[in-house]
Amino acid sequence: MAYEIRTYGDPVLKSKAAPVTDINGKVARLVDDMFVTLHESDSGLALAAPQIGVQKQIVVWDIDDEMRTIINPTIVESDGEWVYSEGCLSIPELYVDILRPNRVLVRGLDLDGNELEFEVDELMGRMFQHEIDHLNGVLMFDRMTTDQRKQAQTAWRELQESSDPAQSRHVPLL
Ligand code: ZN
Repeated sequence: MAYEIRTYGDPVLKSKAAPVTDINGKVARLVDDMFVTLHESDSGLALAAPQIGVQKQIVVWDIDDEMRTIINPTIVESDGEWVYSEGCLSIPELYVDILRPNRVLVRGLDLDGNELEFEVDELMGRMFQHEIDHLNGVLMFDRMTTDQRKQAQTAWRELQESSDPAQSRHVPLL
């Protein structure tokens, strides 16, 4: 079942998700639904549970034909710098060049409760940083410089007021 993707302004996106304490059938069904929602979205690469209104620390992604899930992920180490034109399923049509660390070491659990570890950079590194931010109630706006934020918020308001149908740019969304 596809959920509705929550968008900027919805308070659920500003609150912290709780760790998953029991990886049970309910969590597995939720993960299935997150993949359905992700695949029905336009150009979505990854999705965090709060984006569908569920305050649990779960992230799914489908990148390079690999569908994966991580539960209770944390960034253990990060270094380097990388600028990427970030787009978010919860802030549609807005893309901003955001500077973040390039390489991250991420730890969490898989759906069987086994420990997972990823050491990744560039797009995969950005995906983890963006999705783990969602679990902490942090959005792209919070990662922008003051000038970028001012411009982006104006652009977002204009997009909301515009009567034109959304033009899909087929840029990957996180
Ligand atoms: Zn996002």
